[in-house]
Order: sequence, then structure tokens, then C-alpha cells
Amino acid sequence: MICSVCHQPILPQYYFCPNCGTKINSAPLSTSVRTQAWVYAFSIALPMIAFLFVTRWPGMKYYKSLDPKTKRIGQIAWALLIISTIVTIWLVYTWTQSMIQSSINSINTDFGGL
Ligand SMILES: [Zn+2]
Repeated sequence: MICSVCHQPILPQYYFCPNCGTKINSAPLSTSVRTQAWVYAFSIALPMIAFLFVTRWPGMKYYKSLDPKTKRIGQIAWALLIISTIVTIWLVYTWTQSMIQSSINSINTDFGGL
């Protein structure tokens, strides 16, 4: 078996070419007990945390107020909520990218060096 990009010899069990890093096979996701426990715990906790934050967020009450000063607090709270949501999405995106990169590196360390 030869890498289609750099034409170096590779073994069939390789997920990535050890020479140029080209993806050969799709690496399976980890199914260890620890990974499973983490995925399940996160799936249970995440909606609950989101629910608590939404129900306890006072911004809406302030925003609906007729008093201009109180309404202003609600508007600022909304703006901060939107900014923080954008920042969170950006952080999750960059975190996901680094997770993908580190998993590629660990796959090559685990399987490429055989
Ligand atoms: Zn290659």
C-alpha cells in the first residue's frame, strides 16, 4: 500500500499517512467507559444548566419594564447576552478545531508508529 499523496509505503491499519498526514481511513470514535461516562453526563447536565440560566435570567423582566431606567438595564443585559453568546460559539468552534487537531496527532502517535 502506498500513500496517494507522497507515495511513501504505508500499512493498511494506518489511519493517517505517517509521512504527510493524509487521511487514509476514518478513525473510530473512542468507546472507552470513561469517554462514555463523560458523554452521558454532559448530555444530562447541559440542558439542565441551560434551563437554569434561562429561567433565572432577569434580563427579560427588566426589558419589559415601563420605567426607562429599568428598561435600559434590560437592554444592556440583552446586549451582553448576545455578545456572550457569540463569544461562546466562537470559543466552542476554536475548541472543537483544536480537539480535532489533537485527536489527529494522538491517532498518529498511537497507530502510525506501529
Ligand atoms: Zn503521505
